[in-house]
Amino acid sequence: MGCPYANPTSAQRFSAGSPVKGLMLLQDTQLIETLAHFNRERIPERVVHAHAVGAWGEFEVTHDISHLTSAKFLTGVGKKSKTLSRISTVGGERGSADTARDVRGWALKIFTEEGNQDFVFNDIPVFFIRDPIKFPSLNRSHKRHPATNITDATMFWDFHAHNQEGIHALMLIFSDRGTPKSVRHVNGYSGHTYKLTKPDGTFHYVKFHFKANQGNETLTNDEAARLAGQDPDNHAADLHNAIEAGNFPSWTLYIQAMTPEQSEAYRWNVFDMTKVWPHADFPLQPVGKLTFNKNPDNYFAEIEQAAFSPSTMVPGLAPSADPMLQARMFAYPDAARYRLGVNYQQLPPNRPVAPVYCPFQRDGRATINGNYGGEANYVRPPPPHPHPRVSSSSSASRVGVGKLGRISEHEVWAAGSVAEYASEVTEEDFVQARVFWGEVLGRQEGQQEAFVRNVAAHLSKAKPEVWQGVFDMFSRVAPELGEAIRNVVVGERKEL
Ligand code: NDP
Repeated sequence: MGCPYANPTSAQRFSAGSPVKGLMLLQDTQLIETLAHFNRERIPERVVHAHAVGAWGEFEVTHDISHLTSAKFLTGVGKKSKTLSRISTVGGERGSADTARDVRGWALKIFTEEGNQDFVFNDIPVFFIRDPIKFPSLNRSHKRHPATNITDATMFWDFHAHNQEGIHALMLIFSDRGTPKSVRHVNGYSGHTYKLTKPDGTFHYVKFHFKANQGNETLTNDEAARLAGQDPDNHAADLHNAIEAGNFPSWTLYIQAMTPEQSEAYRWNVFDMTKVWPHADFPLQPVGKLTFNKNPDNYFAEIEQAAFSPSTMVPGLAPSADPMLQARMFAYPDAARYRLGVNYQQLPPNRPVAPVYCPFQRDGRATINGNYGGEANYVRPPPPHPHPRVSSSSSASRVGVGKLGRISEHEVWAAGSVAEYASEVTEEDFVQARVFWGEVLGRQEGQQEAFVRNVAAHLSKAKPEVWQGVFDMFSRVAPELGEAIRNVVVGERKEL
């Protein structure tokens, strides 16, 4: 591109003295560049979590947890780190309505002195599946039918009636919290179990909870449907306007922590993402405060180009054996490579503030960091390098290299045979869903009735042949629940 033309509205056209201007010229670089760039403005949207809002902010430690972790951003009361957040729906495309009944993705990037720490959480504490190979099927069943290209309640309920480990997550999204009033009113839960680690080799299993200091305000099913038509971007506007007005939303970070010994004796498999740790067993401990305090100047540059991954972890945090977490640690960077290109970590919203030295990752499309100039692009054993060995991208490039190869303070030794494994649904999968129905919704006036209405409104759009399987599934939570849903769905059909 050379010097831009003075007039961005003009184009070169042939004229042989006639007042009627004739053919356009191929040499008109301005016209060609304008049209060609427009054709290429769109990049692939995320296959899930395409529709989002985002904001910059700050995380501050309010309670020291250096007895649990060496992560510097989590230790020392008053310690502050810059953050970038992105809160999304899951199933809808980029332009879809904010108020859809759905899980909200709750992604956070913390720019720490040891590299980036990403959290890719949800606004519900559990997930629909625990076997990662089911992830594409789960999401397709919530999206558009391959023949009609319409979201399809039959597909949705058929999937869930045949994969009933998701009952707990279904209970949560069909409560009124499935239609939050705004993103300022949603919590962010790790769902997964992580490890908080210390250099002496000890660790605790933890779950993270970011609770909205604004409370958990919700919409009814009818209000959400009305807003989806009348004001489909109202969550985006609400967040933008609140931040512009200096009314900064904030969240309190809590953790639940357990020792490895406690995990072995615990009733619930801590690597099963369909289960919570009841608060009475593992109380919430406050850690810090997250505040959103700045809108992006440019949505595409700062939010669409942001890439978050559960594999982006600083020392002091580590993954657990949760298979969903392990799979997401692959899937998220892979999605970013597809969407943004192999050098996505060099883009401004993803660039760490900590020094990163990794000259073995070179070239690729659109490198913008100088590409390490003439430094060696092959591996040599240390002597110690002047640059700190810190990476923002993966635990693999974080750990040091010793005589025996990769070392880590938190090795897991595995020995055994390899076999095909798929988890089975048992009565245990209904226990926490039942507690939610009876003891959480049951104690909030009108919430059980709202739940029944929310399920019935969705299920009645499905073909009758899938109904019975769904009534039976909810009856396993509580017989009166399955019956109540059946009465509304069948009753409404009779009235037609
Ligand atoms: P408690 O009885 O101590 O507290 C109930 C929890 O449920 C609170 O965290 C509350 O959040 C949350 N909650 C209330 N209404 C809703 C709703 N409509 N949708 C989602 N969450 C809601 O919880 P227990 O730990 O004893 O667990 C009981 C049940 O509560 C669980 O089986 C699970 O279904 C649900 N739950 C548990 C969580 C956990 O991590 N233990 C987290 C969230 C839900 P708040 O205080 O912010 O209102």
